[in-house]
Amino acid sequence: MNLINLPDNNGFFGSYGGQYIDKDLKEEFDKITNEFNKLKKDKNFIDELNYLLKHYVGRPSPVYFAKNLSKKYGAEIYLKREDLNHTGAHKINHSLGEALLAKKMGKKKIIAETGAGQHGVAIATAAALMGLECDIYMGEVDVIKEKPNVDKMRILGANIISVKSGQKTLKEAVDEAFIAYKKEYKTALYAIGSVVGPHPFPMIVEYFQSIVGKEARSQFLELTNTLPDYVIACVGGGSNSIGIFDGFINDINTKLIGVEPLGKGEKSGQNAASLTYGEDGIIHGFKCKVLKDEKGNIKDAYSIASGLDYPGVGPKHCYLKEIKRALYKTTDDKKALSAFFELSKTEGIIPALESSHAIAYAIELAKENKNKKILVNLSGRGDKDIEFVLNNKTSQ
Ligand SMILES: *Cc1c(COP(=O)(O)O)cnc(C)c1O
Repeated sequence: MNLINLPDNNGFFGSYGGQYIDKDLKEEFDKITNEFNKLKKDKNFIDELNYLLKHYVGRPSPVYFAKNLSKKYGAEIYLKREDLNHTGAHKINHSLGEALLAKKMGKKKIIAETGAGQHGVAIATAAALMGLECDIYMGEVDVIKEKPNVDKMRILGANIISVKSGQKTLKEAVDEAFIAYKKEYKTALYAIGSVVGPHPFPMIVEYFQSIVGKEARSQFLELTNTLPDYVIACVGGGSNSIGIFDGFINDINTKLIGVEPLGKGEKSGQNAASLTYGEDGIIHGFKCKVLKDEKGNIKDAYSIASGLDYPGVGPKHCYLKEIKRALYKTTDDKKALSAFFELSKTEGIIPALESSHAIAYAIELAKENKNKKILVNLSGRGDKDIEFVLNNKTSQ
């Protein structure tokens, strides 16, 4: 399968992706593309990044054979432990890369938006490390709701801009961050939190996340002398899933499965499953599958896992679905919650609610595919979700 030349020069994966942005921003984004393509071949940049991934993030993260869970459900279930990274999830991989890119480009500041604050904490961490200023746009509603993450970002030295327009959540935060970036792009770099947004960001974030799949493939071979039958990851914007899929993309016998959040269930219409229910459309400067209402307007996404809560999805996933190299399935809130407790109680690992979606689907698959080998990307740890899960459980 030749996916090597993707995206094309205009940032398209088939008909998805691209750059639906103003002319002056397009010039700046093309500059970022050129700089990134140069740095990718620069030994100093690669060495510096690899040094940080090893000594700061703690890579390689292990692949762990979940013996108890496997015994219970019949298939062999393995976990790629991104939850063990510094700051507790895969997001640090691309945040460090983006901050290093900003520094090499001579920028003084990172501009980013965040919803639940997870991208905000990862990018504020990377900015602190690189000595960059960091402006984080966040809806006023989220600033109140996500206080622990807001506190962390402030401790890390980030400047939180509370956005008071419209619904005061992620969408308005993205809009405001873009307005600010347009004024400051000469001295700032916009740091997107997943494989979404205008070209070159899906390509850049994928590059920094592909380490996950690269490590996982060789670790899996070392452990088992074979490759997994299935590789499973949850899909929000799609960065942890694309990262692990990349390692196995040419292994045709390994099935790649992305798990989208079905939220309150199929009939409720409240979900964030863009690949399953979305239509082609443009959101935040790129083309992908987007959730829309009856009038064709972009619909609010919903999931119990706020990190999966996005009405669009990375363009490469749209393409992988179209060419059938990856399959996309769904898990609802309830199943994700039950997988959260299942992994905690059987293996002593508390997963993030996002990752719990992948675990839930892996358990279903294991019941029907005894003796198969399933590798799950455990994208993050669940410490951030504990208070919410306990409150939610008692109210059920
Ligand atoms: C943000 C987040 C996700 C979803 O983002 P992707 O870009 O789809 O990977 C998944 N898991 C965790 C732990 C997250 O923090």
